[in-house]
Amino acid sequence: MPTVDSLIIGEGPAGVTAALYLARSGCSVLVAEQMTTGGQILQTSSLENYPGFPQGIKGYELADLFAAHLQGLDHLERKSSAVTAVEGEAGHFTVTFQDKSTVECKTVLVCSGAKHRLLGVDREKELTGHGVSYCALCDGNFFRGKPVAVVGGGNAALEESLYLANIVDKIHLIHRRDAFRARKTYADRLAAMGDKVVFHLNSQVTKLLGEKDLAAVGISNLQTGDYEEVPVEAVFIYVGFEPVTTFLPKALERDAQGFVITDTEMRTSVPGIFAAGDIRSKLCRQVITAAGDGATAAQAAFVFLEQLHG
Ligand SMILES: Cc1cc2nc3c(=O)[nH]c(=O)nc-3n(C[C@H](O)[C@H](O)[C@H](O)COP(=O)(O)OP(=O)(O)OC[C@H]3O[C@@H](n4cnc5c(N)ncnc54)[C@H](O)[C@@H]3O)c2cc1C
Repeated sequence: MPTVDSLIIGEGPAGVTAALYLARSGCSVLVAEQMTTGGQILQTSSLENYPGFPQGIKGYELADLFAAHLQGLDHLERKSSAVTAVEGEAGHFTVTFQDKSTVECKTVLVCSGAKHRLLGVDREKELTGHGVSYCALCDGNFFRGKPVAVVGGGNAALEESLYLANIVDKIHLIHRRDAFRARKTYADRLAAMGDKVVFHLNSQVTKLLGEKDLAAVGISNLQTGDYEEVPVEAVFIYVGFEPVTTFLPKALERDAQGFVITDTEMRTSVPGIFAAGDIRSKLCRQVITAAGDGATAAQAAFVFLEQLHG
């Protein structure tokens, strides 16, 4: 069975950065990716908030640059397969892949990211990037001065509505219950905006309308059964966000939503396992913070390996 110093799970911004840092410090590294280099940035039409690209950069272009950066690095190998299990203890982990092969490693860096829960409405996937979005911070600016919808009743939905209120013309806030689960001050601030925010409580989106781009949402009232079609150019969906952790040991400490808890140096509750990027329990999930976590996790793993080697 092959043995490496570090096994990195995922080639999103966190995993790519961790791989660069660890390989450049001379550790033997294997990076496993189940799909393609880039992670969630491949779902992003354009990134306008990543430093160094004042005109913005398309998600797939940044992903290509990430992949190019990993090419030809000494000490680095890549494997195209999903990790299905991580077992063992500090210094002696066994990682199993979907193709049934295994690798021994001394440290594991979990950079497998997170994924948004889908609304589950017809055409949602087809219109993602064409008006359906899960990230107001990322995509809100494309809809400056336009009417949009926001779906959800938790802090994320209301926080993002407050953010969008400075950008868009009108927000249709759609929530399936009669009260929000979010902080009361958020709902109060939105209510104080008058016509700018239209509340659709006890309601859910049942249709996404439009040809190539979203043009309207169909909203059904769960109490009265009434149905209306509201013209919007975007719908921002906040019905939950979940970490990708199915293959991790149960012993790894997580928060109430299942995100992995780390200290500031990306160490998890299991010595030798580090976590970086969106999979972590943290405030801000963006490319820049994932890359920063990846660099920190790599440095912490390097220190751990040095201590292990005595
Ligand atoms: C639509 C959208 C728009 C966004 N826009 C912006 C923006 O404009 N600016 C910004 O800064 N951020 C934006 N973000 C957020 C940003 O993309 C994420 O914060 C960032 O990609 C997180 O990086 P990560 O490396 O932690 O995880 P991810 O990007 O999720 O990468 C994780 C990788 O791990 C792989 N993986 C998962 N499980 C396994 C496994 N078992 N085995 C092998 N591989 C596995 C996945 O395939 C994936 O490639 C956006 C996100 C979305 C969804």
